[in-house]
Amino acid sequence: MKQTVVPNRNMILLSLAIGYAVSLEANKVYYGAHSGDHAIYPDCRPEFVEKMNDVSLIANYEAVEIYSPYLNVSKIEILTDGLSLGLDYADTWTCYNGREKACGKCGACQERLEAFEKNGIEDPLAYE
Ligand SMILES: [Zn+2]
Repeated sequence: MKQTVVPNRNMILLSLAIGYAVSLEANKVYYGAHSGDHAIYPDCRPEFVEKMNDVSLIANYEAVEIYSPYLNVSKIEILTDGLSLGLDYADTWTCYNGREKACGKCGACQERLEAFEKNGIEDPLAYE
């Protein structure tokens, strides 16, 4: 699964989000890293989020907090939360392959399918 690592991706995306938050006068950005990412993605680990948050609080005249409510939560539990909120997962996308339909084979698809299976429901997304 290391082939899905995009070097420095989350530092870049968080920097953009923080800059945008400052422009909106928002004091918080939400970051969706979860516990299943820690082994593979260095920029999803708690130590990265902690240090990035430290920088975000001092990088501008306006402090912006990086809020990561799912940092230590599994994708299975995140799905449980989303289902309890009534989210329509037919409108969500997880696959790393940019095709018309999700591949069902990449790491992200596999984790998504496992989360649905463990929650005892069928994924509403169409797969190849
Ligand atoms: Zn996929």
